[in-house]
Amino acid sequence: MRALIWFRRDLRVSDNTALYQAALSAKDGVVALFVITPEQWKQHDDADCKIHFWLENVRALSGSLANLNIPLIVKTANSFAETPKVVASVAKQHKCELVCLNREYEVNELRRDTAVTTACKKFDIGVQRFHDRVIVPPREIKTKDERFYSVFTPYRRVWDQRAPEFAKVLPKPPKQPDTGIKSSAVPKSIPGFSNINVRADLWPAGESESSKRLKKFTKLIANYGTARDVPSVAGTSLLSPYLVAGVISPRQCLAAAIESCQGNLDRNEGAKVWVSELTWRDFYTHVMVGFPRVSMHQPFKPKTSGVPWRDDSEELEAWKTGQTGFPIVDAGMRQLNRTGWMHNRLRMVTAMFLTKNLLIDWRLGEQYFMRTLIDGDLAANNGGWQWSASTGTDSVPYFRIFNPFSQSKRFDPEGTFIKKMCPELKDVPAKALHDPAKLKAAIADLGIEYANFVVDYKESRTRALAAFKSLG
Ligand code: FAD
Repeated sequence: MRALIWFRRDLRVSDNTALYQAALSAKDGVVALFVITPEQWKQHDDADCKIHFWLENVRALSGSLANLNIPLIVKTANSFAETPKVVASVAKQHKCELVCLNREYEVNELRRDTAVTTACKKFDIGVQRFHDRVIVPPREIKTKDERFYSVFTPYRRVWDQRAPEFAKVLPKPPKQPDTGIKSSAVPKSIPGFSNINVRADLWPAGESESSKRLKKFTKLIANYGTARDVPSVAGTSLLSPYLVAGVISPRQCLAAAIESCQGNLDRNEGAKVWVSELTWRDFYTHVMVGFPRVSMHQPFKPKTSGVPWRDDSEELEAWKTGQTGFPIVDAGMRQLNRTGWMHNRLRMVTAMFLTKNLLIDWRLGEQYFMRTLIDGDLAANNGGWQWSASTGTDSVPYFRIFNPFSQSKRFDPEGTFIKKMCPELKDVPAKALHDPAKLKAAIADLGIEYANFVVDYKESRTRALAAFKSLG
């Protein structure tokens, strides 16, 4: 029996459940498939840099698979609607009786996979789906009355108990019998997606790179609790693009964190906090599966559909381009535009600024992030945006609006990060970066060209409070 492993966002050979199971089932070899779906990716607002990163990882994967005697076939099907036909015909052409895949939990992806199962059935080809993308499968954790959790802390308590059942890391599959099938060339680019914004130096592709990052990070993990909030230091793992593309698995991350403290997370506060971030990742997928409206542009809290969002394209543009006049917001947005990634603290600051101070709809920010991020992920991005906009599960209360000046004073006191991203402010004394009146004066004194405040901070805060209060 021959098996087809269909890779999607699980671009690795180590600890890959579907690949491992395909190799166990097949006696006559394994064939791999990757399907490029440009129109669908456009519809999903996938960023150019992310698609380019995925392609580079498919190329690296093809090399690793070749060492296991597994040829990788690359096909194009414009949309998910065309995908079932492509998968079934590749399986049939290469005499595969079984298709193995790791589950994806978004609505369109679920529909696609159901259609693939039906298409394969017509040729008597079986389809086996595995949980692999998160540590604890989304439906495994429920409240006592069988509902999905909408609050993180009780979810986390159950997650802590259940995670060990699912945390086992699988080895690479053994070398397979030669099928004589040739691998496809992996394209360098895809029409409709540009490579311009790519910083390959920041985000090298491949499993060896993600393992290297994980190893390097676990040496510093003890400091994560404090270093993770400081954008000027590399205090976080920088693994998110690799986790989103599945170049590394969350189980491998969990295992490394546990190993870093000799099996006892209570011994290392930093490792414990980092594992709770991996749990947030699982939680937001759990929320997306349990409350599918969040992935259909609806707020989790129905009442917040009535927020009187403002329609102001100039202010939106100022935010997108990092020209709001608020240094920490501009620094965050410029980091995003330049590198395809933004520090978590700044994601919260910039998202809160758009939705509260500019009172612009979170969906526009969510879309801009998705179109720009190399780690764009529907569940985590939606979760982060709805948290910041106070429309989501377990989100920040609407009256706790971050003050961008207090945030920069606390997390970038010397202005190191701000000055790196906004070099026009390099001569502004650090204190002035955290105080609107002093900033205005310093800019005038130094004759610097820097954006005027796009809004008055105090007035915009009062406006946001009134808008949310009006919901009752
Ligand atoms: P680390 O701090 O090293 O954390 C390790 C891993 O845990 C991350 O790689 C990520 O997979 C996961 N993680 C960490 N924080 C969160 C979180 N709050 N929610 C869910 N998972 C988390 N993360 C994405 O992966 N994709 C997104 O599209 C995304 N959009 C976001 C949008 C907003 C508005 C906000 C506030 C957060 C968003 N996040 C997103 C979460 C978080 O900002 C990133 O995961 C993190 O900055 C990635 O950097 P890192 O790999 O160094 O993280």
